[in-house]
Amino acid sequence: MNISIIGSGYVGLVSGACFAQMGNKVTCVDIDINKIKKLQQGIVPIYEPGLERMVRENYKNKSLLFSTDLPQSVQSADIVFIAVGTPMGEDGSADLQHVTSVAQGIGQHLMENYTVIVSKSTVPVGTADKIKTVIRQELVKRNKDINFDVVSNPEFLKEGAAIDDFMYPDRVVVGADSEQAINIMRELYAPFMKNHDQFIGMDVRSAEMTKYAANAMLATKISFINEIANICELVGADINKVRSGIGSDARIGYSFIYPGCGYGGSCFPKDVQALAKTSKDYGYIPQLLNAVESVNQKQKYIIVHKVIKQFGENLGNYIFAIWGLAFKPGTDDMRQASAIIIINELTSRGAKIQAYDPKARFEAETHYLKDNQNITYVDEKYQALENADALILITEWLEFRSPDFAKIKQKLKTNLFFDGRNQFDKTRMQQLGFKYVQIGVKD
Ligand code: NAD
Repeated sequence: MNISIIGSGYVGLVSGACFAQMGNKVTCVDIDINKIKKLQQGIVPIYEPGLERMVRENYKNKSLLFSTDLPQSVQSADIVFIAVGTPMGEDGSADLQHVTSVAQGIGQHLMENYTVIVSKSTVPVGTADKIKTVIRQELVKRNKDINFDVVSNPEFLKEGAAIDDFMYPDRVVVGADSEQAINIMRELYAPFMKNHDQFIGMDVRSAEMTKYAANAMLATKISFINEIANICELVGADINKVRSGIGSDARIGYSFIYPGCGYGGSCFPKDVQALAKTSKDYGYIPQLLNAVESVNQKQKYIIVHKVIKQFGENLGNYIFAIWGLAFKPGTDDMRQASAIIIINELTSRGAKIQAYDPKARFEAETHYLKDNQNITYVDEKYQALENADALILITEWLEFRSPDFAKIKQKLKTNLFFDGRNQFDKTRMQQLGFKYVQIGVKD
């Protein structure tokens, strides 16, 4: 099939590369000329394991093209995906300006042949209908009556494992009102369904809602365990043991109940708030969603409070080694990362930071922490420890899982190790001579 994907970010590029890998002819479109130029040179501007190889391979055999030409790519496509960003607006709602502008572009250039327009961006319930209206308005201006459908196909990939998630999906949700559209989507995704039929067809609004419900559920699990962790600390219980205790119940399970210093990323924070906003717009106060968000916001400060407890409010004489800047391991994405708040809070009290992240340094230096003069970035994890008063682990990259503890102790000025992701056993760390401070365990 001929596929155009408008928006070549984490979702658009991964989807494009995977569809091309299955033999489709894909054009990934973006308004960012620099991004497209880089892609045309084989440079993938984001870090996602396995993506660069797949992009280069498919670009070489011409099944994957990159372009800024929206009209041409709309005209040549059987299916047009909208995969642009839907960032959080000031009132918490999803900002749909990019989606709307792409819908206008599609309406201005759609050809006579039937086309399926796919909304892959995470968008509030009702957006597919809005896309349809915008396209129709443009067609009316052109005095055209062209047959098209708008379907919702929310994306569930996880950054850091995006290729595997896309190639071997748990489910493919497609919301459509038309038999013709759903059949085309079934055909498109058939090569990804070799294991069993993971294709779940439904109405458009339910598909749009499914994405928000999934992210809200996952965010809720994280905020739940973090709240329990905070109570554990007060009452002298150990969240790590409590986690094992509850996870063994099949109704609860172990996944997504890791205590930590808060969730970040481009999805959970904005999607929970967007769903809450939609809900309020319809006259329902989403008490649980509001609590999920506020627990998470507070959780991002937990490590800061722990540092202050040890060193006092004035951190002017101290240097902290930071391990991990990305919002989670396996990505260079720093959107809403806990590291941003933790580092800015520490440096606002005078602290100096020596930061190491295997992939996110560039993002931090050039964007998310670019105005913070108190940070020195290093290229190797032990280098961050030189002369530092404590180590703070924020992102649980694999290379931090089994570090050389003797080296850490030898390089740090103190034995203080703050672990924002509870990576190690407290008793063992104490035996190794660390003052090991975790989430959800009394210091
Ligand atoms: P992103 O910011 O990485 O990429 C979006 C791209 O769209 C950018 O390259 C931008 O330049 C481009 N763009 C914006 N306006 C455009 C226009 N008018 N024409 C062409 N290109 C345009 O965003 P992302 O992380 O890929 O997310 C895209 C959508 O998918 C969002 O709605 C997000 O919530 C959702 N989503 C993201 C993830 C994830 O893990 N990142 C997972 C599932 C769903």
